[in-house]
Formats: sequence, structure tokens, C-alpha cells
Amino acid sequence: MKLFNTLSRSLEEFVPLDPPRVGLYTCGPTVYNFQHVGNYRTYIFEDVLVRTLKTAGYQVRRVMNITDVGHLTSDSDTGEDKLELGAKREGKTAWDIAAFYTEAFLKDIAALDILPADVLCKATDHISEQVAMVKKLEAKGLTYTVADGVYFDTGKFSRYGRLDPARLKGQKAGARVDVVEGKKAPEDFALWKLTPAGQKRHMEWDSPWGRGFPGWHIECSAMAMKYLGETFDIHCGGIDHVPIHHTNEIAQAEGATGKPFVRFWLHGEFLLMNAAKMAKSAGGFVTLADLKAKGFDPLDYRCHCYTAHYRKQLDFTWELLDSAKTARRRLREAAAAVKGEALKPACAEHQKAFRSAVEDDLNMPGALAAVWDCLRSSVPPGSKRAFLEGAEKVLALGLFKEEAQALLSPEEQDLLDRRAAARSAKDFKLADQLRKELEGRGIIIEDTKQGQRWRKK
Ligand code: AMP
Ligand code: ZN
Repeated sequence: MKLFNTLSRSLEEFVPLDPPRVGLYTCGPTVYNFQHVGNYRTYIFEDVLVRTLKTAGYQVRRVMNITDVGHLTSDSDTGEDKLELGAKREGKTAWDIAAFYTEAFLKDIAALDILPADVLCKATDHISEQVAMVKKLEAKGLTYTVADGVYFDTGKFSRYGRLDPARLKGQKAGARVDVVEGKKAPEDFALWKLTPAGQKRHMEWDSPWGRGFPGWHIECSAMAMKYLGETFDIHCGGIDHVPIHHTNEIAQAEGATGKPFVRFWLHGEFLLMNAAKMAKSAGGFVTLADLKAKGFDPLDYRCHCYTAHYRKQLDFTWELLDSAKTARRRLREAAAAVKGEALKPACAEHQKAFRSAVEDDLNMPGALAAVWDCLRSSVPPGSKRAFLEGAEKVLALGLFKEEAQALLSPEEQDLLDRRAAARSAKDFKLADQLRKELEGRGIIIEDTKQGQRWRKK
């Protein structure tokens, strides 16, 4: 199996440290708001990785963190903690905000059929591990303390920044406004931030340096090493994590242990909307609830993600999502057509094409092409069934699931879609007309905050 390693900037043959076991760490959500479909593109790519490793016979231990403290609005250690900001916005405590959006996230990833992580760990449950790591770095002379907190001294870590191709070419990661007083270099970063005198945060802890909270990056180094060891196989995240977050994770971990932290770094490219990265801060973003309100199944979005390689940017538009929905419906129809057939050995040629594609750095467009080739071929239906069932273990497109959508005829689905569209366009007259038409066919509509729901009489 070949994977593109950001560290070496090349495709490498993947062999785990301790086969058949694979240790995998994936950076999780900052739970101060709903995650958008851009975030989910990254989690879907990681899920495909897990599923591909599993089908190749590996035993995967996947760790995912929940960032529920310390992620500031600016990546350069200034600005407000996103959780405390969410608390102000909604008039709740930061703890309530974290609990609410963590649950929303878990519901979403279940709807996207993303396999649950083996270890799901919260930053706030691992304060002592983070403090211990900062102490270790301090003992090694890799830190300094200013009024604002404890900082990592990147000047003392000679390998700093080797993950980031831009830095190696001599470009600094973005021009960051630096207002933390006493910071020696712009890339030095906070390990422990002190609560400013006279202030009280919802989330704060005592430490050898005073009352405060951990910097954002330290949680991932501390928890990854706790659950996967000092050196482990694969670490993933979105491409935006390369220059700062993952660069700093390496500095902390390797600074503390003197050993290589991660063998393979994998990064997913952005989902774009209107030619820009889909982002919460930029305002325009689409959630799974938005998608459902327009009559899409979350798995239609998963299908859309397969139309580009994970290291290529992918556009999000409703038209493209519509095409993905149609493609997935056709796949489901093909699955329904062969479902009752007696299983025959899967066609070796198509199976090989599918497997070579996924094991070639998760080439999902190639994998889907192999699926269509098989379905269009003249292999016996029982072989198609065996092939599709195997492919579905990686695709997770709900091809064999009895879901609500499958109980509708294409005309009924079309009526529902048109009604959802009419409602979004505030054409209530047409929406009402379509409701009556659906009722005549025995389908009852209910309008909820999340969009229209239907059931059969
Ligand atoms: P956050 O909740 O902001 O910490 O982000 C969670 C994950 O989503 C990280 O791995 C990010 O790199 C990733 N991410 C954020 N925006 C996008 C986007 N537009 N497309 C793909 N991945 C993204
Ligand atoms: Zn992380």
C-alpha cells in the first residue's frame, strides 16, 4: 500500500512499525460550533484510510481528540479561546458549549458512516498529561516564560519546521501579527497560557506556572503519545495544519523524547466554496443539517468526496451534490438488482482494479471507476454482488442499507426534492401543492427546524 507522506513529500510504501497493528492519530474538531462539510471532507478521507487499512488486514487503533479548550481565534497565541467565545455567543458556560457541539459532531459522523475512533479523548480530560509534558520540555531547556505564559523556544529545536515545504523553501508561514510581549521569535508558541490577572475563565487549572490553560498544540502531542506510544505510524489532518499545528506537535513530542514522533503524515486538501476554503470564520459554511434540509442524504456528500483525490481541492456546489446523489442512487439501484443473487466469487479483474486504486494513496475516483466498470460488464450478477459487497466496506455509501430513501420511487423522491427546494425559495404556495400531491401518494410531510421530514401513512 502506498501513501503520500508530507514529511518526505513522496509516495512511500506503507509498512507499520509493529504489523499487523497500525497506530493512527487524527486531529478532531474544535467543539465551539457545528462542524461544516469542509471539516467532514477531512474526516471522510481519514475514514477511507481506516477502512482501506482494515481491508488490507491491518488492525487499526485510531485515536481522535476533541479540542474543548485552548484553541484561540488566532493561530499565533493571541485572541480569544474559541470555546469561551462560543459561551459568550450563546450565554452558556464553555463546558456546556463543548458538550453540546461534541454530541452534534458524533451524530454527524454516525450519519456519514464514519467508523467511531477507538479512543476519543478530550483535551480537558488530559490536563495533567499536558502539564507533565511542558515540565519535561522545561527540564530540557526548550521553554521560556513570559508574563503571558510558557512558550516553546523554537530556536533551541534545530529540526523545527521540517514538515512544512514552504518553510524549507525559505518562506515563513504567513505574516502573523505578533503581539505577545516577550516572545523571542514569531514561531515560538504557547505551551501554557496564564489567565490574565483579575480575570476568571470557565476553564482553568492550577499548574506549576500559575492558573491557566494549555496551548492548543500540546494536547495532541500529549494524548497521541499516551495512547499510541512515543513513535507511531500515521498522523492525519487537514492541509492547514501543516505549517503550525502539526509542525508544533512534532517540536513538542520530539523535543520531549528525542525520538521520531510520527512515521507517516497525511494531509487532506480543502473543500472550497465560491473559490475559497470553506471556513467557519469566513462566515459561509454548510452543515449536514443544511444538506438534509435540501433533501440530501449525508452519504450523497460522502459520494461527492470520492470525485476528487483527497490531496486535490474539491468544489462544493449544490449542482455537484446533485450529481453525486444521482450517482449514489444508481449504485444503490445496481446493488438492489443483485441483492437476491446467490453469491459467486467476485470478478478478480475488477476486484484487483478497485484494490489497486484504494491502495494507491486512496485513489477514490479510480476506485469508483472500477465499480462502474464491474457493473457495466457482463460478469454474472452473483459475482457483481460479491464485488459490490467487498467494495462497500471501503466506500460506505449505504449501498445495501434499507434506508428511508430506498422506499420511495424516483417520482416520489423528485416531488420531495422539489418541495424542499420550493420551501428554501420561500414559494409556500408550490410547497403546499406538492405536499398535497405527496399526501395523495400516502406520504406525510412534517416541517422541522432541520427541514422537511416524511413518513408513509
Ligand atoms: P477544526 O474544527 O477547525 O479544528 O477543524 C477540524 C478539521 O477540519 C481539521 O483537520 C481541519 O484541517 C479540517 N478542515 C477545516 N476546514 C476545512 C476545509 N474547508 N476542507 C477540508 N478540511 C478542512
Ligand atoms: Zn491536533
